[in-house]
Amino acid sequence: MPVSRAFPHVVVIGAGIVGAATAFYLSRAGAKVTVLDAQAPSAGATGASDGAVSVASKRPGVMMQLARQARDLYAQLVREEVLTDLFHTRPTYLFARTEQEVAVIAAQQRDLDHQGEATLWLDRAMLMRRVPGLGGSVLAGLKVPRDGHAIGYQVTNRLLACANVVPLRQTPVLELVTANKRVIGVETSAGRILADVVVLAAGIDSMAFVGLDKMMIPRKGQLIVTDRAAFGHAALPGPLMSASYLAAKHTPTAQQSTVTLVIDPLRTGQFLLGSSRETGVLDRQTDIRTVATILREAIDVYPPLARQRVIRTFAGIRATTEDGLPIVGRHPELDGLILATGMQGDGICLGPLVGAAVAHWALGQDCVPDLSALSPVRFLRPCGSDHSRSDVL
Ligand SMILES: Cc1cc2nc3c(=O)[nH]c(=O)nc-3n(C[C@H](O)[C@H](O)[C@H](O)COP(=O)(O)OP(=O)(O)OC[C@H]3O[C@@H](n4cnc5c(N)ncnc54)[C@H](O)[C@@H]3O)c2cc1C
Repeated sequence: MPVSRAFPHVVVIGAGIVGAATAFYLSRAGAKVTVLDAQAPSAGATGASDGAVSVASKRPGVMMQLARQARDLYAQLVREEVLTDLFHTRPTYLFARTEQEVAVIAAQQRDLDHQGEATLWLDRAMLMRRVPGLGGSVLAGLKVPRDGHAIGYQVTNRLLACANVVPLRQTPVLELVTANKRVIGVETSAGRILADVVVLAAGIDSMAFVGLDKMMIPRKGQLIVTDRAAFGHAALPGPLMSASYLAAKHTPTAQQSTVTLVIDPLRTGQFLLGSSRETGVLDRQTDIRTVATILREAIDVYPPLARQRVIRTFAGIRATTEDGLPIVGRHPELDGLILATGMQGDGICLGPLVGAAVAHWALGQDCVPDLSALSPVRFLRPCGSDHSRSDVL
């Protein structure tokens, strides 16, 4: 995708964590960036998620490898004083309540060990010493000490501020503008904006463009926020993550809707309890049945939660794919278009890493790390179709 100017003008569609990270790296490299959002920064999944920057939870293979690099990048951004106070390291505790689940986390331990990730197996007594108050149903656990946490909307705001980019709010992109098999800009509610490169980072709403509706699957997740169980610090050393959460990640094609429990102790002293995985659901409502299921599960695992008050519930939509991998890379048929979407339940973790890669591509550079496994080519094979007329998609 050769770009004639040294400093191209890049239009980024979407001001979630991926769009913000892309803008940050582009701006740092000297490019001109315009970020457009249909609503406002973090209006999508970024503002309705948990903040696990987690390797412990990842499917073995490319997602686990990328998550390790993504977590390192968070630490680097802290050292560079970009994400000061916004990212911290903490352990994740995977837990099992049945023998079958013990086998699931034992297999995860083998995969994490294989990647060189430190882990510690905990029988029930050892787990109880680290997390006093655990329910009687918990049999064993796995501690993954070097995981991390960051809140998506805070990271997004910081990256945009550091990039000195003010997104255009309430400016939905209606169509891509093309000429001679090249995307040359976007049609927005406020008129046409021309660009050297367009980055599609619109989360689940990317489905409206270039046939992505055939590859992407919405998965709603409901979350519950409690009042403070502790003041000025997290009430537990790290999140309690169920083996069923792992199992759901390992089988991305599963169509059924489930609750895969995570009890996340926030630094405010509150708990974030989640979440559901509701396949094919696009609305952002919460419902009593699902909230009740999450609460029942959470109290079974950690009975002291019964003392807390629920102060809020909310839902977000994960942008998922059949193979459980994001869609990140140059569009195989349309020059000038880079896709950065389908981030699954992993976009807070992977967002800065993906943004860095997209910025490299937009500047015509190769990127490290190797994100070829995420390339849209696996879905969008070049077919020699004729895009020769000036057109909108
Ligand atoms: C319940 C839940 C829990 C999660 N927990 C975690 C977690 O613990 N760790 C983790 O790593 N990830 C987690 N995730 C996933 C994570 O939130 C997402 O992967 C990530 O936020 C995706 O970011 P994004 O920038 O790709 O998309 P989004 O945040 O969805 O941003 C897309 C933006 O594009 C805008 N937009 C849409 N259409 C248009 C248009 N036509 N024109 C202009 N703008 C447009 C939207 O308004 C939105 O602001 C969770 C998700 C959910 C739902």
